[in-house]
Amino acid sequence: MALAKLSDLLEDAQKNRYSVGMFVMFNLEMLHGLISAAKETNSPIIIAYGEMAEEQTSIRHFSKTVLSMIEEAKVPIGLHWDHASSLEVAQLAVDSGFTSVMIDASAHPINKNIEITRSVVDLCKPLGITVEGELGCVGQGADYDPDDYHYTNPDEAKFFVEQTQIDALAVAIGNSHGVYPCKPKINFDVLEQIRSNVDVPLVLHGASGIPKEDIKKSIECGITKINIFTDICLEAMERIKKTVQKDKVSLEMIEEDVIQGVKAKTIEKIMLFGSNDRSK
Ligand SMILES: [Zn+2]
Repeated sequence: MALAKLSDLLEDAQKNRYSVGMFVMFNLEMLHGLISAAKETNSPIIIAYGEMAEEQTSIRHFSKTVLSMIEEAKVPIGLHWDHASSLEVAQLAVDSGFTSVMIDASAHPINKNIEITRSVVDLCKPLGITVEGELGCVGQGADYDPDDYHYTNPDEAKFFVEQTQIDALAVAIGNSHGVYPCKPKINFDVLEQIRSNVDVPLVLHGASGIPKEDIKKSIECGITKINIFTDICLEAMERIKKTVQKDKVSLEMIEEDVIQGVKAKTIEKIMLFGSNDRSK
């Protein structure tokens, strides 16, 4: 048991009311840190990759290493493509052995979003690959304004899930990507309305920087996948900043900072999400 289907991971999380963490990585050090954290806590995790790293790593090659390390991990791990922008990118994920794909057509009007998302579902479903779609606009932290925010419409969410047949839905409930310029304001009323309108697992993007109590409440209200990127990077960077002030600095020391920083922060998130000791 190692490489896992996202739908299986989320089904167990939904049934037992915890959340599985999705962590973005784009190099071997981050990958080491994530897998060590999952093993140490006996937790399922989702390892994610996205287009921004494609130029540096070339996933057709890198995925062979990632998959081989996942196979030996002995805890269930999903390999997920985060924010694919088109059917072509989803195809690359499929060809590279990913077990799930998020198609993000949320910037389009709903009908176009449905059309693009449905095309990815038609590609992935027959292959047993899980598809996540997004409705509403999670956006970027730098532009974050809780008073001018495009929430997921709970009625549209029901229609969107029915029309696309997606397996998981990313929601916009006051969350945003990257570093928040002010305290994030999660709208639990919107989340609860979406939860009562759709059955599929719900996904919280931009969870770095959201207070712990709001994360816990989101899980109670039905979030079963939580995406983390910024927080693991910030932790690694903090350690690197301290290391470079030392007299003698080697590349190995920097690499170790990334591995240990990512590992420590991932363990912290796993404990918060309640996915520890859920590996079966
Ligand atoms: Zn995201």
